[in-house]
Amino acid sequence: MDLRVVGSSGLQVSLLGLGCNNFGSRIGEDAAHAVVRASLDAGVTLFDTADSYGGGLSEEFLGRALGDRREDVVVATKFGARVGDGPYDAGASRKHLLAACEASLRRLGTDYIDLYYQHFPDPMTPAEETLETLDALVRSGKVRYAASSNFAGWEIVEAEHVARARGTVRFVATQQEWSLLERGIEAEVVPACVACGVAVVPYFPLASGLLTGKYERGRPPPEGTRLAASPRFAERATDQAFELIDRLEAIAARAGRTLLELAIGWLAAQGVVPSVLVGATRPEQVEANAAACEVVLSAEEIAAVSEATAPGALP
Ligand code: NAP
Repeated sequence: MDLRVVGSSGLQVSLLGLGCNNFGSRIGEDAAHAVVRASLDAGVTLFDTADSYGGGLSEEFLGRALGDRREDVVVATKFGARVGDGPYDAGASRKHLLAACEASLRRLGTDYIDLYYQHFPDPMTPAEETLETLDALVRSGKVRYAASSNFAGWEIVEAEHVARARGTVRFVATQQEWSLLERGIEAEVVPACVACGVAVVPYFPLASGLLTGKYERGRPPPEGTRLAASPRFAERATDQAFELIDRLEAIAARAGRTLLELAIGWLAAQGVVPSVLVGATRPEQVEANAAACEVVLSAEEIAAVSEATAPGALP
């Protein structure tokens, strides 16, 4: 498994990252442990969770599943999503952030977080306050690196300049939805990240499984899958999505690739991407995703895939 550097930091992570948002919601603790074990066996070193996933169970399951392998991996978690009904149970204020960090450390059963993401922009809190609090957390040893998520391009640049002006830690990465079915970030976010030396860690890289080819147009989603379990995700199986998938299947057939290899390989070919975060509900999925990470697409394949799925490519 390839290890890559995260932006202009010294942190290295595996090309395949395990997304743990299924833990405590779609899957229980035993299944989560099996997925983590398969990931460790495949050489995955990046494990991504959040305080809000599974109401906190995702962090708990991940912490226990890693056990004595904790030091071998990079544990990424997030603060800022709503985790309770109170006025201080969300956001990026100093008050919430310090409490959220303590709660995540407790649930993860660790004394430090490697990569700590601000899950969403918080228009109520100045960037100075959040970055200075993250700086204090890094100095105290509770956090190693800070990162953002779901920020607009201008918010990434703003945070970079605030960090430089204040001499605080900076966001080394941003987590963003990016896949062959959703390429919206390429207009503003990716150029901002390249300019600032911030890595882009794509989430929903398989469009919740649509880019594995297991869903078919006009047919109900197979039982036990994410789209069968969630109407919110099922809404993403649009005619437009299937039109793009048809184009990709045609390219894959010509090139002797699978759809999964195109989906992961295309993101892996983007210079700004250190790791592709893929969620899994079963060990076999992790094995397939790790195998897809071994495939290096040719320049011609990347160009064909880029052209077929470019924003506005559909009539
Ligand atoms: P995803 O990676 O696009 O889809 C993962 C789902 O696809 C799995 O749960 C599984 O679903 C299916 N799958 C995975 N590998 C497969 C394979 N080889 N063959 C067939 N099906 C396969 O989406 P995601 O897991 O939601 O996103 C990845 C991670 O990004 C999350 O776990 C989370 O850590 C992070 N994330 C972050 C944000 C944010 O706001 N920062 C938002 C969303 C996600 P089923 O088995 O259930 O069908």
